[in-house]
Amino acid sequence: MDRGNGVDAATLFEEGGLTYDDFILLPGYINCSLADISLETELTRRAAIKSPIISSPMDTVTESRMAIYMALLGGIGIVHYNNTVEEQAEEVRKTKRFENGFIMEPVVLSPDHRISDVDAIKRRHGFSGIPITQDGQVGGKLVGIVSGRDIDFEPDRSKRLREVMSTDLVTAPIGITLTEGNRILRQSKKGKLPIVDEDGNLVCLMSRTDLRKNQDFPLASKDESKQLLVGAAVGTHPDDRDRLGALVEAGVDVVVFDSAQGYSVFQVDMIKWAKERYPDLGIIGGNVVTPDQCEGLIEAGADGLRVGMGSGSICITQETVAVGRSQASAVYHCARAAHQKGVPVIADGGITSIGHIAKALAVGADTVMMGSLLAATEEAPGEYFYEGGVKVKRYRGMGSPEAMADRGARRYMERDEAIKVAQGVSGTVVDKGSVVDYVPYLLQGLRHALQDLGCRSVRELHEGVEAGRVGFEKRTPSARVEGGVHSLHSFQEPHRFSSSKS
Ligand code: GDP
Ligand code: GDP
Ligand code: 5GP
Repeated sequence: MDRGNGVDAATLFEEGGLTYDDFILLPGYINCSLADISLETELTRRAAIKSPIISSPMDTVTESRMAIYMALLGGIGIVHYNNTVEEQAEEVRKTKRFENGFIMEPVVLSPDHRISDVDAIKRRHGFSGIPITQDGQVGGKLVGIVSGRDIDFEPDRSKRLREVMSTDLVTAPIGITLTEGNRILRQSKKGKLPIVDEDGNLVCLMSRTDLRKNQDFPLASKDESKQLLVGAAVGTHPDDRDRLGALVEAGVDVVVFDSAQGYSVFQVDMIKWAKERYPDLGIIGGNVVTPDQCEGLIEAGADGLRVGMGSGSICITQETVAVGRSQASAVYHCARAAHQKGVPVIADGGITSIGHIAKALAVGADTVMMGSLLAATEEAPGEYFYEGGVKVKRYRGMGSPEAMADRGARRYMERDEAIKVAQGVSGTVVDKGSVVDYVPYLLQGLRHALQDLGCRSVRELHEGVEAGRVGFEKRTPSARVEGGVHSLHSFQEPHRFSSSKS
């Protein structure tokens, strides 16, 4: 057989156990510019999103801040459940309530608080621009504002805020648009713009530092009432039904049933129950790696599937329990089975570069879910710190001993076991800045990949692969070396965002 143009996907995957690094995609005919490429794709069989990216339900990756920006950028965030029901529901609520550019629940103090209280907020949250209301609550009468400049050189940190706050305030009335607010912020040259109602009560806040972020987000994932889309993960224990109820109440759009091995009587029962109870809710089942698992969960009613077992960067499942699958093979076989039933799949775990995203989509994924790639962005939970001179944030597996000690491990069926077997590790990831810069960078790289393949959309890529028009080729270990940077004494990474050379 002539292999000049590569082989089709079916031939490539006749051999088992392939990872993204084991093959390469061959170029097609470039027939459009980058701007013409659409990354729109299906999240579930009832919801489409404009960017094929999802942030993982992990306590070092997705809370409301990440979920908000993932949705603004056209993807979606799945809020983790390593917290109380109330805490998780609140993260969902905050995402649904988000209004681009307005800080809806700013941290507020009263005139009787002290400078040391602002110091504590600065340490905890990183900002020190604090509106002062009569009663110290949002909704109270706005009487002043304190910022870094008011208190920087004050030696007596026990001084009351009434003595140092600015009272000549520039405010804006409730109901102004983002554009008007930004104009006032630019003109006033102040750092903060409090928004007040007719009686002068504080409603919300705008911040000058957000001007850059307050751009329009044309790709934003929204529901019919123009609120951002958000997902949340839950387990499959009987009491997770109450949690799911609270999340639905908070407005969640999709739920991800989170089990390391999702094909269980527990998950099947849970999906059936949820389907009947909340017919409008998007239901994502998983995790799965075989067509049998896919078919079982689709039959139970799953609207989408999450594929991957043991491929995550923090994961030791394959070593610990010897069950799992190489990720490219898992995605290929599951996507084929699921697509036959009209159900989209998420390639979850093991993505370390734009190339991996492109390959995941090429082997059939409709979206990709990422943990480590999105950890250590500004929007990920947790504080930055320095490790050996490098700025990092903590990133940990939900089955790591640390996460298990903090309520985790429910996806590993370990909750009530006396002896716990870790299926993940905990570590650190290097600072990547804000997802507002990082995700568009990933998406632009992905457009380049599609352009080189000669595909104008994710759908065209899937059709091309299905029809055998997209060529694949296996990579030998030396081909991988050749495809990376090699033979140099030293070199500079072209971009702070590049995290892998394969
Ligand atoms: P500050 O001048 O010290 O308040 O800090 P910046 O304005 O430079 O940065 C504050 C950042 O934190 C902005 O991106 C805000 O949107 C964000 N932020 C989130 N919640 C709050 C809040 O409650 N108060 C303030 N001041 N900023 C917040
Ligand atoms: P338990 O009997 O002490 O585990 O009590 P729970 O209230 O935690 O759960 C009751 C039962 O729910 C369990 O014993 C299982 O039979 C069943 N169950 C439902 N979903 C799951 C799951 O995801 N993992 C495990 N281990 N059990 C589940
Ligand atoms: P990453 O993008 O970092 O390679 O992988 C993230 C994915 O790893 C998550 O979406 C989840 O499916 C999986 N994962 C998260 N925590 C753990 C863990 O502790 N053990 C295992 N086996 N997988 C994990």
